[in-house]
Amino acid sequence: MSEPVIEVRDYRKTYGDVVAVHGISFNVMAGEIFGLLGPNGAGKTTTLEALEGLRSPDSGSLTVAGIDPVREPGKLRNLVGVQLQSAGLPESITPDEAMRFFCAYHGIVPRFDLLERLGLSDKRKAQFGELSTGQQRRLSLALAVAHNPRVLFLDEPTAGLDVATRVELHDLMRELQADGTTIVLATHDMAEAEEMSDRVAILLRGRIADMGSPLEITATGASLTKISVHTETASLAVPDLVLPAVDRRATVDEYDIFFSTDIGPTVSAIIARIESQEDTLIDLRVERPSLEDRFLEITQTGGVR
Ligand code: ATP
Repeated sequence: MSEPVIEVRDYRKTYGDVVAVHGISFNVMAGEIFGLLGPNGAGKTTTLEALEGLRSPDSGSLTVAGIDPVREPGKLRNLVGVQLQSAGLPESITPDEAMRFFCAYHGIVPRFDLLERLGLSDKRKAQFGELSTGQQRRLSLALAVAHNPRVLFLDEPTAGLDVATRVELHDLMRELQADGTTIVLATHDMAEAEEMSDRVAILLRGRIADMGSPLEITATGASLTKISVHTETASLAVPDLVLPAVDRRATVDEYDIFFSTDIGPTVSAIIARIESQEDTLIDLRVERPSLEDRFLEITQTGGVR
């Protein structure tokens, strides 16, 4: 992950009176999976579509692999893969025909193996309109990656997919990344963003509210870390026991649970207490705030860096 493949500088886009994106800047590095997150109407699609060359900016600049997607769309044809929305294909086309058509457009042999891989083997000759939503989405993914694009844009790729297909898609994304593909992933699925993204940008009302690796982002919030402890003689189960940096506590089954603002001092004090009471630790779990916790915090407080 050395040089930027996508560079966005002060990108601003309005629709009439609505300012959809207020002048945002970010880079996506080669080989990165970059998550674009945000609540409905935050400006994710407006940003993705500008990178795909479908919307021209009011001001600012965007480049993909050094190419301006609006001015020189032809140059991006074989470099970029875009997951089409289902409306992008005619109702009567079959997955086989669509694959042949897309691959001919890119000048490559049809990648029927991708249809097999994404679970469409028995639907290859069915009409697009007869496919389920999940099957249509799988087809659009197969078409987006067929030409091994250098940059792949995915908009809600796993929405409506069953668990097995979702896992298959994530495996496919990791393989593409290992081969050097840069992936921009717009998603509402925080667990997916946290699991898959190297970095994310959280958009809020057309501005970047936070940007960084999921670990960096979850580390900066006010959310508390949950520390659950189970010991042999329950030496922590003393209601008036005071531990440093503990905001509140609870007891669930045999576990004493401490919500900490700073895990270092809290965990050290827990261990010291267990030792001083000649108790024995059976289990200790530390659960950091998730990206979803942090996302909710940002969107609820409306904080923009
Ligand atoms: P979602 O998660 O709901 O898909 P999003 O983050 O992709 O949302 P955008 O679709 O980029 O958000 O929309 C950003 C803002 O721009 C919204 O206020 C939306 O209403 C407005 N907008 C988007 N497209 C148009 C359009 N063609 N005409 C007018 N306003 C638009």
